[in-house]
Amino acid sequence: STDNPRLPVHAPTGTELSCGSWQTEAPLRMLMNNLDPANAERPEDLVVYGGTGKAARSWEAYDALVRTLRTLADDETMLVQSGKPVGVMKTHAWAPRVLIANSNLVGDWANWEEFRRLEDLGLTMYGQMTAGSWIYIGTQGILQGTFETFAAVADKKFGGTLAGTITLTAGLGGMGGAQPLAVTMNDGVAICIECDESRIERRIEHRYLDVKADSLDHALELAVAARDERRPLSIGVLGNAASILPELLERDAPIDVVTDQTSAHDPLAYLPVGVPFEEWDARRTADPAGFTKEAQASMAAHVRAMVEFQDRGAEVFDYGNSIRDEARKGGYDRAFEFPGFVPAYIRPLFCEGKGPFRWAALSGDPADIAATDRAILELFPDNERLRKWITMAGERVSFQGLPARICWLGYGERHLAGLKFNEMVASGELKAPVVIGRDHLDCGSVASPYRETEAMLDGSGAIADWAILNALVNTASGASWVSFHHGGGVGMGRSLHAGQVCVADGTALAAEKIERVLTNDPGMGVIRHVDAGYDRAAEVAADRGVRIPMAE
Ligand code: NAD
Repeated sequence: STDNPRLPVHAPTGTELSCGSWQTEAPLRMLMNNLDPANAERPEDLVVYGGTGKAARSWEAYDALVRTLRTLADDETMLVQSGKPVGVMKTHAWAPRVLIANSNLVGDWANWEEFRRLEDLGLTMYGQMTAGSWIYIGTQGILQGTFETFAAVADKKFGGTLAGTITLTAGLGGMGGAQPLAVTMNDGVAICIECDESRIERRIEHRYLDVKADSLDHALELAVAARDERRPLSIGVLGNAASILPELLERDAPIDVVTDQTSAHDPLAYLPVGVPFEEWDARRTADPAGFTKEAQASMAAHVRAMVEFQDRGAEVFDYGNSIRDEARKGGYDRAFEFPGFVPAYIRPLFCEGKGPFRWAALSGDPADIAATDRAILELFPDNERLRKWITMAGERVSFQGLPARICWLGYGERHLAGLKFNEMVASGELKAPVVIGRDHLDCGSVASPYRETEAMLDGSGAIADWAILNALVNTASGASWVSFHHGGGVGMGRSLHAGQVCVADGTALAAEKIERVLTNDPGMGVIRHVDAGYDRAAEVAADRGVRIPMAE
């Protein structure tokens, strides 16, 4: 509400500590940064992104988190249960300062209905992936992955570029908002359908989206003109994807690539056809079960149009929001005829331990990120794709809250970057420490059979032991905070996943921890894919010295 005295939340910047050390200042600043209005989609409700992904359970819990971090010692650990601090325990300097478990439910109870019952009682919250684990860095966080995915689409089907093609998608929220820029970075044209006008305006303001069309006709006109000139352009269109996609199909619109990033993982966060945008909130609150059915019926129409675009030759993929399964529940039996993006494009990267490595400058100074960008280019001079990405990101990405950067690095690379950043903090080249973390969507940290672990070679997609081992090994290796969540990305009952963040504060102790964590964390991706039978992962393990007991 507007009379909340805590709003707007902004993380402190600069070198003055409000906590006992940088190891506790860092989680405090990152919690606040998640709720900064530049990052949070609905800060007044503590919602950061991804439907209802929250940073803290309630404002009272937020106050207690802040209060506790301000007094937490470097041999203590704060325990967070679904966004609420529940204990402080004496541990030791190598232990994480914060351990987080969000939204976890026992298997038979792991569904939205039970989750909502418990949420209404104030007993849990939805942590999404980086919302409840305090390492969200705005839409950039997904941008490189989205850029890589569209680059892979271009390689597979269009001779290495999206120039001269039109991509159709929907959803311009916290994550989905990366799509238009990722398409134009690959020189293509994007038409993005969004039912919330303020989202379209926000993406234009943050330079992720180029223009807003006045109508569907206008959008098609702009798209075809840009495509014919092989000129990159992204176009926002106000409307409901579940009615616009079938309409475009009907008109035989010249669409080359189709995907979607509406919040389909949560049927209450997907607007059904026939429900006016202004009535969305009231209608889903009044009758969640009925609303879910309507949303699933609309998703069935939406996915049917996607499948039929594929029938006509378009490249179509699920972009990690579980819309295929919701459409199946809505009664459409061809929903799984197009693949998820991980088996289609990303798994080869996972076999090398590659994933969305990211860092944020606690100083608040963009010059610190510019310095780390230069350091990355010096560390990996032969990686052309990385050079293209870092250069474009430096020019085109607006920071949201604390300046941050993401780039996909693999096993044997991430720790080199982390150690270099720690040296730069020690030497004073960076004005303040940096935090180094990642998305939960990584090579060895997730079990999610409709996304990260879809169609694993050995059929092991639902085995979640890997994600748990990931959280345990990062805890044992010295991460500054570690999190274990349920339901991120694809929704309740469909995923279990872990995250870690390290604080590079320039000390020798931080260097030792960083070397271990940033080796072992991507190492989980290598061993997970070796175990599932991927040859590329076995090669990487052999070349880079990852020990696999069953192969010895
Ligand atoms: P968000 O809730 O911030 O945004 C979703 C947007 O979809 C909203 O702006 C909403 O208005 C719009 N929308 C809902 N129904 C619509 C409809 N019928 N027609 C048009 N627009 C509609 O969510 P987000 O953070 O952008 O995430 C989007 C989805 O992607 C989620 O399901 C999330 O879990 C998933 N996700 C994917 C990845 C990935 O790597 N691919 C990563 C994180 C999250």
